[in-house]
Amino acid sequence: MWIEMNASINRIQTAFAGIPSPGKVQEVAPGIGWVRMPLPFALSHVNCWLMADSGGWSIVDCGINDSETGLSWNRIAEEVIGNAPVHRIIATHGHTDHVGAAGFLCDTFQAGFTSTLVEWQSACLRLGNHGERPVELARFLRIAGCGPEMEEAFATERTRVARYLGRLPGAIRRIRDGQSITLDGEEWRVIVTRGHADEHACFYNEARRIIIAGDQVLPSITPLVSVFHWAPEENPLGDFLASLQNLLALPDDLLVLPGHGSPFYGLHHRIHAMVEHHQRRLAATLELMRVPATAFEISNLLFPTARGKGQGRLALGETLAHINHLVTLGEAICEAAADGRRIYRFN
Ligand SMILES: [Zn+2]
Repeated sequence: MWIEMNASINRIQTAFAGIPSPGKVQEVAPGIGWVRMPLPFALSHVNCWLMADSGGWSIVDCGINDSETGLSWNRIAEEVIGNAPVHRIIATHGHTDHVGAAGFLCDTFQAGFTSTLVEWQSACLRLGNHGERPVELARFLRIAGCGPEMEEAFATERTRVARYLGRLPGAIRRIRDGQSITLDGEEWRVIVTRGHADEHACFYNEARRIIIAGDQVLPSITPLVSVFHWAPEENPLGDFLASLQNLLALPDDLLVLPGHGSPFYGLHHRIHAMVEHHQRRLAATLELMRVPATAFEISNLLFPTARGKGQGRLALGETLAHINHLVTLGEAICEAAADGRRIYRFN
């Protein structure tokens, strides 16, 4: 999942000139292949990583569950993997673009699934709830100041994305923050980050100075940081910024393998740019609260074209992430109106 292009100029250094074509693998380091799987969203692709592992392979991230992704994986199976075993299917996090095809890959290669517990569970929960319209969603939207048309738009968008989440593996090999997984005799330390997803895993190879960053650090867009109806009081932006701060403790000269976009150098610069982006948005959100307003009203001012592009759900969630962070910091105040809507104002 994602949200708008980041307007700030990147001074990161793209590590490779080209991109792998569909169904092809481009080596980005010895034993690490870059695969780009297509997405039928505004964001056109997701990156997956084919890792040489003990005489065979392991795969990090999967793509969505559709025929194009299946054809691409089948082609890679034929042309690259051959008869070699695939030991593990590993997920950075449980969003549909990363695990939609996880069941398909585990079945195809008779491989086990490795993930953090929360990410696997949350994907399973989404799959199980597919097609439902929870009363909590209606309540969440009402409190945010939305009319019934937004509920309809939310339902449509959820349904559109839901079909790309395929069967999920029924069991996992669980990974935790600070543990290492061994691939081809090399240690990759699991660094759990929060805010974009609740228990997102990055994988850091200190010896080779490479990090598989998932969606936590992307080269040219900022990952979606959103409040959802199932946990409306959460402060994911606080979590996200704290996680970025943790990643700043890593060396700056790492090759970053992101979930979207091209591999790059410039981890620290990119983290600072993302932090600045959120600080600017926090300032803009607070400025808009000089006139007391609902989250929906603020969202429409921050993202005036989002609803027209079918991205109203993302815009509202991202706006609430900034609002909840400001309320947590004590910079904004939340008051309940007589009709139950929440009104936010500058403190
Ligand atoms: Zn993603």
